Amino acid sequence: MREELNVWEMTLSRLDRTMDILDLTPGVIKYLKEPRRILELSIPIKMDNGDIDLFKGYRVQHNTNRGPAKGGIRYHQDVTLDEIKALAMLMTWKCSLVNIPFGGAKGGIVVDPSKISIKELENLTRRYTYELLPFIGPEKDIPAPDVGTNAQIMSWIMDTYSVAKGYMVPGVVTGKPIELGGSQGRTEATSRGAVYTLLAALKVCNISASNLTVAVQGFGNVGSFAAKILFDLGFKIIALSDVTGAIYNKKGIDPYKLSDFIKTNALVSYPEAEKTDPDKFFETKCDILIPAALENQITANNAPFIKAKILAEGANAPTTPDADPALKENNIFVIPDVLCNSGGVTVSYFEWVQGNDAYFWSKRKVNLQLRDIMEKAFYEVYDFSLKRKLDMRDAALALAVGRVAEAMRLRGVYP
Ligand code: NAD
Repeated sequence: MREELNVWEMTLSRLDRTMDILDLTPGVIKYLKEPRRILELSIPIKMDNGDIDLFKGYRVQHNTNRGPAKGGIRYHQDVTLDEIKALAMLMTWKCSLVNIPFGGAKGGIVVDPSKISIKELENLTRRYTYELLPFIGPEKDIPAPDVGTNAQIMSWIMDTYSVAKGYMVPGVVTGKPIELGGSQGRTEATSRGAVYTLLAALKVCNISASNLTVAVQGFGNVGSFAAKILFDLGFKIIALSDVTGAIYNKKGIDPYKLSDFIKTNALVSYPEAEKTDPDKFFETKCDILIPAALENQITANNAPFIKAKILAEGANAPTTPDADPALKENNIFVIPDVLCNSGGVTVSYFEWVQGNDAYFWSKRKVNLQLRDIMEKAFYEVYDFSLKRKLDMRDAALALAVGRVAEAMRLRGVYP
């Protein structure tokens, strides 16, 4: 499904709709559509068998008018430049929407990290970082984890950058382990932020937050913590899926037990749930649906069959533009990706601030500040959607893009 749909073209088509709402000039539109900088790298690695292999890597900095570029690094076999460009642009809008002083970036390497050894993974990460040295840094561009990367990989990036500088530079990446200047609460921040927006959505939709059922696609960082936080709040997690397949139990699935189980087994073989068809996952009868895997999952083909009341987009670009009309027609309240999953970059911002200040916050402070920012962003989008008679997705994008355009106007164009 992912190859058929070009996520860059879809991201641009969404931006076009926003331009109509904002009434921007053709020059500003042209500027906003193009990434500021694209790096395409061939990364040579000495493999364990003694031979050399070459990996394709990218870093795209979309827009830096509101601050240094910020965005994750993805290790996945299907990574393409178009995908990285789209995700970099989404980061610009996301940072703007939650009003943190960053622009947008994204990076990636075409690799299945599960198919190479730890040593090869470390070498690949360090060589990629070395190639990026002139372009990243706390004031320039700050990477973070995304699909296929984690705190260990961020540690290697930080170390490689710090060795080149001659001193430790914690602010060069976020999503680091706590022991190396990571922030309390960062690991689960994207999910916690998504839950804050979901609780606000339930309020504005007048849905009581008791006895609600949830289906989560993807059981990695975002999906597993979203399931756990909601489980702790009393929601019933009835369906889950990952790359191995999908499972269902109408009485509920304990995501903590499942997490333990998948340390040594495939999710799909979990004995306390029945195996279901992953292609019909979005048809699950539930109150809340959370896509938390990859992009292009909800399309015109499956959107008409969604039965959930709220769609909380934990993943980036999980919904294609041609799915939007069906969601609207079925009165599904959408918390769009740029809003729903912006808790991750928000706590990344906290981590960057803490690292630069060498002063670290308690988990309570992190979570309270996160809640303030997520709720403020949610209600800004919701109020704007009512005022301008827009759906939540158009409202979120218009607010975000408008702020970037205003920063551009105020800065002007050099020379
Ligand atoms: P991850 O690698 O930790 O987890 C991805 C999960 O998706 C895994 O469980 C994997 O098995 C599953 N998956 C892959 N293909 C699937 C398929 N076809 N069907 C069902 N499940 C499938 O990645 P993550 O960090 O949790 O990121 C998930 C999404 O959230 C991505 O779109 C990412 O860009 C976005 N996101 C992540 C963060 C973050 O802080 N990690 C922040 C914002 C947005």
